[in-house]
Amino acid sequence: MTYHIAVIRGDGIGPEIIDAALCVLNRVGTRFGHAFHYQFVEAGGCAIDRYGVPLPDESLAACKASDAVLLGAVGGPKWDTLPDDMRPEKALLGLRKELGLFANLRPATLLPELADASPLKDRVIGDGLDLLVVRELTGGIYFGDHGTGEDYAFDTETYHTYEVERIARCAFSLARERRGHLTSVDKANVLTSSKLWRRVVTEVAADFPDVRLDHLYVDNAAMQLATHPRQFDVILTSNLFGDILSDLAATITGSIGMLPSASLGEGTCGMYEPIHGSAPDIAGQNRANPLATILSAAMLLRSSLGLSEEAGAVERAVQAVLQKGYRTADLAAAGDAVLGTREMGEQVAALL
Ligand code: NAD
Repeated sequence: MTYHIAVIRGDGIGPEIIDAALCVLNRVGTRFGHAFHYQFVEAGGCAIDRYGVPLPDESLAACKASDAVLLGAVGGPKWDTLPDDMRPEKALLGLRKELGLFANLRPATLLPELADASPLKDRVIGDGLDLLVVRELTGGIYFGDHGTGEDYAFDTETYHTYEVERIARCAFSLARERRGHLTSVDKANVLTSSKLWRRVVTEVAADFPDVRLDHLYVDNAAMQLATHPRQFDVILTSNLFGDILSDLAATITGSIGMLPSASLGEGTCGMYEPIHGSAPDIAGQNRANPLATILSAAMLLRSSLGLSEEAGAVERAVQAVLQKGYRTADLAAAGDAVLGTREMGEQVAALL
């Protein structure tokens, strides 16, 4: 069977980390007898340079026609002074909206091999962390009405019942497959949209009696993540809060270079990308950690292509590489074998 994957290399370290992930996917293809057809698509800063827009129509059409989208990262200082509608990040918002990708899944796992890389004390992280942030991705303040006047600016947070209900159902289903605990995060003591959020999540809970539901205010959630992160299984939250909390969750697991993400909608087509950005400070130096992108490719195999065995093999190969002591520069301590981006991809592929 041939699978069609739209590949957006993007900007900064994007091309390097994507090439490492494709090296691993190619090995999956050989080992398990699958054909992956890659359609390389431009979006972000490189598309602005070439076509004058961050998300050309042909790129969007190619993504819509594919089984899944694999993305490196977009953006960089070169495009920072462009007007908002022309910035590289607009490509991401456009893809999420146009592909209907309302659920952003961000697993934050601290592997025992990387315990020393966490900024938290041993007594806080215990024998590791394994939580999942489910972030609403196509509503809330990032998509609400916004504007400026002479001496004011505003952004509007709007949530409809159906938007909260569908992301809540997604999060409850995932919690049911994990440890059966869901924490919904909002600011219902202040925000009207959060009051609606809390009411709808509570209503959906009636259909998932086997899942334990807690509610936390976002300020408390941030504190709890830093002090007692092991209490969490699945965290469900809005677009803005999810953006911030998932970066915090990423940080406590050691390196932002380790964490994958999946953005899903109603169908099986999804977009998969590392949670980090284009890291312009290390671009072109073969220094970026490709493991978040490789683990994103594993999520793609499982969630969009239904290839769970292959996904598990990639995840085990990543762990095996770390067990052997190989590290990219962001993870390395004295005495570790430091690999470049390309070599790390080759090691994972070799251990598959
Ligand atoms: P960033 O994630 O790119 O970098 C933050 C820090 O983490 C840097 O020191 C960087 O070197 C390091 N880092 C990031 N990924 C790494 C990796 N794989 N291996 C090793 N180190 C890594 O965040 P930023 O500096 O705030 O943003 C840079 C650009 O990326 C901006 O233009 C921003 O808008 C864009 N951005 C894009 C996305 C995306 O494409 N999804 C997400 C976030 C930021």
